[in-house]
Amino acid sequence: MAKGKRDAGRVVISGGGASGALCAVALAERGFEVVALEKATIGNGSSGRSAACIRAQWGVAETVLGMRYSEWFYAHFHDLVQSSPADRPWMIKQNGYLFLYEDPDLAAPPWQPSARRAAAAAWEAAREHVAMQQRLGLEVSLLSPAEVQRRWPHILAERLIGATWGPHDGFLNHDLIYTRGFARAQELGAEVRQHAEVMGAETRGGHITRLHTTAGPVEGDWFINATGAWAPRVSRRLGGMDLPIAPLKRFLYYLKPHRPIMTPEAWAALPMTIYGVGPGRGAHTRPDGASLMIGWSHEADPEPDFTDADQDVIPPEFHHAHGLENYGYAALAEVERLATDLANCGGLHATTCGYYEMTPDGSPLIGADANLSNLVHAAGFSGHGLMHAPITAVLVAAIVAGEVVDGKVKLPVPFDAHAITLSAFDPARDFGRSRKEALVL
Ligand SMILES: Cc1cc2nc3c(=O)[nH]c(=O)nc-3n(C[C@H](O)[C@H](O)[C@H](O)COP(=O)(O)OP(=O)(O)OC[C@H]3O[C@@H](n4cnc5c(N)ncnc54)[C@H](O)[C@@H]3O)c2cc1C
Repeated sequence: MAKGKRDAGRVVISGGGASGALCAVALAERGFEVVALEKATIGNGSSGRSAACIRAQWGVAETVLGMRYSEWFYAHFHDLVQSSPADRPWMIKQNGYLFLYEDPDLAAPPWQPSARRAAAAAWEAAREHVAMQQRLGLEVSLLSPAEVQRRWPHILAERLIGATWGPHDGFLNHDLIYTRGFARAQELGAEVRQHAEVMGAETRGGHITRLHTTAGPVEGDWFINATGAWAPRVSRRLGGMDLPIAPLKRFLYYLKPHRPIMTPEAWAALPMTIYGVGPGRGAHTRPDGASLMIGWSHEADPEPDFTDADQDVIPPEFHHAHGLENYGYAALAEVERLATDLANCGGLHATTCGYYEMTPDGSPLIGADANLSNLVHAAGFSGHGLMHAPITAVLVAAIVAGEVVDGKVKLPVPFDAHAITLSAFDPARDFGRSRKEALVL
């Protein structure tokens, strides 16, 4: 086995996005010799195409704990990665996350009883989730329609049965995660090689000994697959397990207001808002400077063989500039149902897109490969990998450093009263039995 310049060993990370960057920092901090490989340039994947939102309101307990840590990490980002005091752009805006739940009697006409039942079930699940999240120490609350109306007068609260509110949730400065992250890793001695595509591996006795890359062979003791929507391909190239990750195209729209409907301060403080949960629902908005960013999840076929260029391809039916009969305006109509003034205050002026990396249960794949003992996957974030990146780095570093005790990883201070059970994210878990994440948008 190759030995690094430090005793801890040598770790080779594939993938130049948020996950690779923060894994590189965490491993370099622990004394590992780190080499990060990126086939193009850093930020080539979804990390630079994201809505960049972060929340701790989740349905799976391990994710709630992990996101409490991630929010804390991003709130202390510059101190933790020791940014120069003169160069500290904003990292997180904690405007909160507001999930709006519709009154089941108004969510659908009487001749669609299943849609009404879905709205009722979503609200019941929301209350159970809030109780679970509060038990885990999360500051989250149930809001009445009257309270929603008082705080956000542009929302049609009379259509609601209630809402959930997480004041510490918000959104991130996504480019900074991987630019400053890799820079910090380099300050700690890591090597970052761009234009080095992982093509294959040499293995011995169920172990990888070296990678073949377009920039030559790379030896290591441990290998991390942090290649996002490409992770199944990379695993196959290395002789690893089949990863159940489906690359699904997702679009974001940007609305430019033509007239003010609130003060600039109120606009800048708008929370990430989700306009109804349940089948066919889940359109969401957040402020993006002077614009409003809008997202929604449509039915999409997996594109396992997508190319880098495909990431930015917008078919006409999804492009806002192709008339009103497109998905962007359908998403806006969803917003209009519960926030008419907001949806009608301007027009769409941009469309962007990228790939989600969906797993069957909506939770990530973090853990050792089933075939190769020194290959660790950190992928399958199901459209939420920026918020997962800090806790993913903690879990990956603990796996590599041999600090998993009874299948659990203790969280760092100040969350050290908590531990995360790794089996929730085991890449080889039984997806027929695993708990499905109910709040994937
Ligand atoms: C429209 C949209 C909205 C989103 N909104 C959110 C959100 O609000 N919040 C959130 O947390 N997440 C969100 N996401 C998801 C988030 O962007 C991803 O989960 C996250 O960026 C994954 O980061 P990563 O580092 O794991 O992968 P990526 O950023 O995709 O990086 C993978 C890297 O691996 C490289 N690579 C691939 N193959 C190889 C190879 N063979 N050798 C070397 N390098 C290779 C790629 O070039 C790429 O740079 C969104 C995504 C999209 C598309």
